[in-house]
Amino acid sequence: MKPAAFDYYRPSSLEEALQQLTACGESAKVIAGGQSLGPMLNMRLATPSGLIDLNDLTELAYIREVGDTLEIGALTRHDQIAESKLVQARCPLLAQAAKTIGHYAIRQRGTIGGSLAHADPAAQLPLIATTLEARIEIVNSGGQRSLPASAFFQSVMATALAPDEIIRCVHFPTVDVNEGTSFQLFNRRHGDYAIVAVAATVALDGERVARVRVGLSGVSAVPQSCDDVVRPFAGHMANVAWAADVALAVRDAVSPEGDQRISAVYRKELTQTLVERALVRAMSRAKG
Ligand code: FAD
Repeated sequence: MKPAAFDYYRPSSLEEALQQLTACGESAKVIAGGQSLGPMLNMRLATPSGLIDLNDLTELAYIREVGDTLEIGALTRHDQIAESKLVQARCPLLAQAAKTIGHYAIRQRGTIGGSLAHADPAAQLPLIATTLEARIEIVNSGGQRSLPASAFFQSVMATALAPDEIIRCVHFPTVDVNEGTSFQLFNRRHGDYAIVAVAATVALDGERVARVRVGLSGVSAVPQSCDDVVRPFAGHMANVAWAADVALAVRDAVSPEGDQRISAVYRKELTQTLVERALVRAMSRAKG
């Protein structure tokens, strides 16, 4: 199928893009990498009256360290994130996850802003943003606001973004000293969206766990942080038995829904296996 007719705009600055978005009204949409919106336009699942193309806004394509965060512009492509030495060193979980998104061609075009705004419940970058409690900076022609990921993602493909707003950048906390991270996903074929994915961080204080974070996708409508479940496991000796105990607790805490292809029990078992694998890997990276 072909998209329904729309007016096309190609602003050369963020300010111009915001003015056009406001002028076009509620049925306008911005397009970045087009890897999700393109198919939706073709299938007429999205029929915006105006399309505002962000691809000339090179001011939104950057990665920089600011204090104890990495600031990543909304137009930064998945591949730039995966390959960035700065991201690999300062927020390795993000690079590990970005590397697994779809296929090479998709990673060359898809952007972090587009992925967060699209909010697919199985997508990698919303999961990492939720696990690390990243802050998402949003602008409209009247000003700006910043939301934690937990407040940004609201339901399947639904976010706190208003129609006149654009994501400008995302702030991810940088990795701690003695902290290891791991991203694990399971899918049927290489490049498919994950059935279940797990993001984990383990910070060590000597032989003990100083802090642990676990995030999940594929078990609920939005990525899920398991902070409340895993927090009591801090302070324990960091070993394989500990990882197995945490994984069991996470498994018991999730209530995924089954569908025709994948049962709820299978998702729970996958969650346990991937959490254990992620924690063991993160521990070993933390030990260096
Ligand atoms: P677009 O498609 O341009 O836009 C998507 C939505 O975001 C639209 O609603 C648009 O209006 C909005 N938007 C875009 N930028 C902004 C912004 N700055 N501010 C506000 N709203 C904005 N993703 C995964 O995570 N994992 C996968 O395994 C995966 N596999 C894929 C496989 C295939 C075959 C394809 C085609 C895509 C796959 N994707 C996957 C999706 C890919 O990551 C997309 O790049 C991403 O979901 C959307 O990013 P985009 O820049 O292409 O956004």
